[in-house]
Amino acid sequence: MKRYDVIVIGAGPAGLMSAIYCKSSSTLVLEKMPSPGIKLLISGSNQCNITHDGSVDGFYRRYGRADNFVKYTLKNFSNKDLISFFESRGIQFTVTDHGKIFPRSSRSKDILDAIIDECRNRLVTLAVGEPVKTVEPMPSGGFHCTTAYNNYRCKYLVIATGGKSYPKTGSSGDGYRLAQSLGHSIVTPKPALAPVIAEDYDLAGLAGVSLQDKTVSLWRGNKKIASEQGSILLTHTGLSGPCILNISRYAQHGDILRIDLAGSACLSFTQFKDILSKSNNLQISTVLRNMNIPRQLACAIVTKAGVQPSQQVNSIKKDMRRQVYELVGGLPFTVKSTGGFDEAIVTAGGVERTEITARTMQSKLNPNLFFAGEIIDVDGDEGGYNLQFAFSSGMLAGSSISNLLSNEKNCRAE
Ligand SMILES: Cc1cc2nc3c(=O)[nH]c(=O)nc-3n(C[C@H](O)[C@H](O)[C@H](O)COP(=O)(O)OP(=O)(O)OC[C@H]3O[C@@H](n4cnc5c(N)ncnc54)[C@H](O)[C@@H]3O)c2cc1C
Repeated sequence: MKRYDVIVIGAGPAGLMSAIYCKSSSTLVLEKMPSPGIKLLISGSNQCNITHDGSVDGFYRRYGRADNFVKYTLKNFSNKDLISFFESRGIQFTVTDHGKIFPRSSRSKDILDAIIDECRNRLVTLAVGEPVKTVEPMPSGGFHCTTAYNNYRCKYLVIATGGKSYPKTGSSGDGYRLAQSLGHSIVTPKPALAPVIAEDYDLAGLAGVSLQDKTVSLWRGNKKIASEQGSILLTHTGLSGPCILNISRYAQHGDILRIDLAGSACLSFTQFKDILSKSNNLQISTVLRNMNIPRQLACAIVTKAGVQPSQQVNSIKKDMRRQVYELVGGLPFTVKSTGGFDEAIVTAGGVERTEITARTMQSKLNPNLFFAGEIIDVDGDEGGYNLQFAFSSGMLAGSSISNLLSNEKNCRAE
């Protein structure tokens, strides 16, 4: 039976970061896949949108109801700290117009290589192809872990097995079962940051058309549930793109998503009529094109309103004008469902936050147990917020264990 001070389950960004920061030369990371960080490698289309620009105080509201839980973690190891961590290891970064931060090389592999190198420097043992099957607390404190091939013991355990989206990357929800076996409650996992599949969708022929800087609102009956701004992608089955991914966490079957194509939620009918009256001799589809609506979509909208795309504005009756206005101001889509775990970028739900101390990532049920990353009931918006939380919470879990280990050492020395 091999013994370690610390065992980390899962070699994703959260697990590897906790292995680095626990600063013990007796740390084992157990990874079920043949290589570490597979999800990190495919993140941001293999380019790795590692975090977001701006003050970290602006980050909290990007995590829905987990905003209070993430505060300490993100302040303790902010976006600036994360960038410095990698810059000091030779990686340079670039910021997009929308504030997303990527390695300048556009290679997520550079990020993974840097953390693996750092694990090596800290003498962390990485065992790949070793799925953890069971974890049991020992009466003396610490844990007994069994993998498909070995038995291990450790004093401190970090569960960083991720969520259950993109299961082919290795994160398929095992950690929930392990956490439950240690007494933790699991908030039912749901796909998040997923595309929306629309009912009676008739824009499949426009798949691939993207809309920039639009406002989307989500309605349940007469109540507005949420709204988002950003770019939208029309797909074969409905809608995707950053704006839709972010709003998908609130969407339910039967809700209505409305896209304001005018780009401002308050274009009144009078204003729209003014635009039309200044364009009397133009074709209606050209007027919509001039409002930054892609040509194919402009044609589809006017057709939906019962008007020929080539019809001149001066020949369109008032009620038809109103119908075009209604569609431009809030093109409606009925939500059939959101994409499943195979398509969702992250998982909402996971280990119940109230059972974890937010300032240490320590379990409130077992002081030798820690959690980090997406296994916790925290999911962030699109834009680098999920990797930031994975790194920050991994760092916090690791440094909390490091403090416990050095306290033990000091006690022994006294
Ligand atoms: C396509 C895609 C693109 C994304 N792009 C971005 C992006 O650009 N920016 C961003 O912020 N976020 C992005 N994300 C989300 C981000 O990648 C995750 O939130 C992040 O990787 C979570 O880190 P983690 O360490 O908690 O979990 P993971 O990265 O999921 O790592 C968990 C690890 O645990 C291992 N494991 C699971 N069960 C066991 C077991 N029983 N025994 C041993 N090991 C186990 C898994 O194999 C895996 O390697 C993207 C996600 C996807 C799917």
